[in-house]
Amino acid sequence: MHFPNASEGNRSNSRRELQVFREATLEERRRYYREEWKLNDVPEFILATIAQREFGFDHRGEGPNDRYNRISTPTQLEGVLINAAPYAAYASISFYERPEKREGWLGAELVFDVDAKDLPLRPCSCSPGEVCELCLGEAKEYIIEVAEILREDFALKELHFVYSGRGYHLRVLDKDVLHMQSPERGSLLDYVAGGVIPEPELLELRRGYPRVFRMRVLRLLSLLNLETLRSGGISLKRADALLNPKMLRRVANELEEAKFTTLKEILGSTGFAKFLELVRRINAEMLDAKVTVDVKRILRLPSSLHSKVSMKCMYIKNIERFDPLKDAVPRFVQERG
Ligand SMILES: [Zn+2]
Repeated sequence: MHFPNASEGNRSNSRRELQVFREATLEERRRYYREEWKLNDVPEFILATIAQREFGFDHRGEGPNDRYNRISTPTQLEGVLINAAPYAAYASISFYERPEKREGWLGAELVFDVDAKDLPLRPCSCSPGEVCELCLGEAKEYIIEVAEILREDFALKELHFVYSGRGYHLRVLDKDVLHMQSPERGSLLDYVAGGVIPEPELLELRRGYPRVFRMRVLRLLSLLNLETLRSGGISLKRADALLNPKMLRRVANELEEAKFTTLKEILGSTGFAKFLELVRRINAEMLDAKVTVDVKRILRLPSSLHSKVSMKCMYIKNIERFDPLKDAVPRFVQERG
């Protein structure tokens, strides 16, 4: 386990990143769709169901207010994007008999959305709304963990990763999930995020939900600071004791063994309860819940341009190797002086 020190937060200020996160001009958008965008970059799972999805566009950077569009064929999509060069393009996660009216709902993908700019605890010193290599990396590791839980605990198989421009979407297409309604999606979200404190007698169970919750505690250990612990009502003395690197390492090792012994000793029973509540609260803020429970959501179209930050929203074939600051940078940004 890696415990970052304070100086590592400053790596973000490289020139490369400053060039990336700058808004695209209309001319740059036009160039992107004319010269760089390819129909092949739209994932097959969208092309195969294109006529059942609602499409939405944002033409001026004011939000996707051009909605209720039906696009019948991939060729039509190509024409629309090249001609309009929209500020942003979206397609629904849901399937409809009449997408142009959002009627005849046939099901929806299950989606998890982590945005680096909204992470409740970040490994960097980004200002609100900004992202850098470090918080994007944190978001990536997190979404990989969510996928592992869905695979291991729910036997889901059709998991697709998309880089959203400032974070990651995990889109699940297994038949079993397509007809789930919002409350069921909400429960699943609580499970993968660790949004509920396990019963005390189950806390050290090696499998199932308590294991998920412990994994979250383990991950948060490397990001915790005095301010966060104090905001959770932990006393200065106990927070200080926990943040000692030797202690953190011991607590982490015990968590790997499904034990909370040292953590309980350091925090005392009241402090431990407050700590669990703090973890639960942070967990609940990691994913955008609205995206997961909304069965009529539109989501940024993979292959489209995220004009606000000049990055490609793109389908990811190999998440482990994916590096947004290399792979999702459009050509026009690389050529900016
Ligand atoms: Zn950052």
